Amino acid sequence: MSKQKYALITGGSRGIGRETAIKIAQELGYSILINFQSNQQAAEETQKIIQEKGGQAELLQFDVNNSEEVNTQLNNWKESHSDAIIEVIVNNAGITRDGLMMWMEDEDWNKVLNTTLNGFYNVTRNLIQDLLKNRYGRIINVASVSGMKGTPGQVNYSAAKAGLIGATKALAQEIAKRNITVNAVAPGFIETDMTIDLDQSQLKNLVPLNRFGKAEEVADLICFLASRKASYITGETININGGIYA
Ligand code: NAP
Repeated sequence: MSKQKYALITGGSRGIGRETAIKIAQELGYSILINFQSNQQAAEETQKIIQEKGGQAELLQFDVNNSEEVNTQLNNWKESHSDAIIEVIVNNAGITRDGLMMWMEDEDWNKVLNTTLNGFYNVTRNLIQDLLKNRYGRIINVASVSGMKGTPGQVNYSAAKAGLIGATKALAQEIAKRNITVNAVAPGFIETDMTIDLDQSQLKNLVPLNRFGKAEEVADLICFLASRKASYITGETININGGIYA
């Protein structure tokens, strides 16, 4: 009997993660595991949208930064779903704590680094053996233009996302032989809760396409990388930023 195939989206309750969850369910037919940290209502809303479109989705709450919580939740889930395989991992959960380096608090450095980098490590480390046995898989890491070119006021976030891009390249080479691809996307300004306080009318002038991107546009790219059509792309980071030089 073939296994039921799942895609896990960390931070799938809102923003880019929500749109990615919806698109992967609809276009690739995966059952979806929607991870979130605290916003259960938003996670349920994502689940409802997927179900209304005829897809299947479950919620899985954990803080990606807390390795014990990640391992407990994922191991329990795997035990209760012995006929399932998580074949696609989208490491999307991320936060910003902006401010100039000279005034940065240790907590703002640690939280941003830990959510992006430990989040990627904790989740991917837990699932990688299963993917290797499966001899097929897709890992997509959500980086940022800040990780490509560096953004002043975001030394912590730029470091975290550049680290994630390095990890993407290294892991891709480790596991390519088992037909598992590892890629990153590097969005620019995207309209979500994360950018809600930014002055769009000013900042859009920095973007050649003269607007912020939409979460659905990033989701389309992630969905492509998660599909079989992207089978010869690995270790790559794809910019999606409206033309900002990166
Ligand atoms: P968002 O709207 O603020 O959503 C963030 C999501 O991450 C939420 O689902 C949140 O869960 C989850 N999350 C945060 N910390 C978590 C943790 N410790 N454990 C588990 N889940 C956690 O953000 P977004 O704009 O969609 O961003 C998604 C990704 O894209 C991030 O990695 C971000 O850095 C990256 N990105 C965004 C932009 C942009 O302009 N928006 C640009 C480049 C890159 P809750 O709902 O439970 O809080």
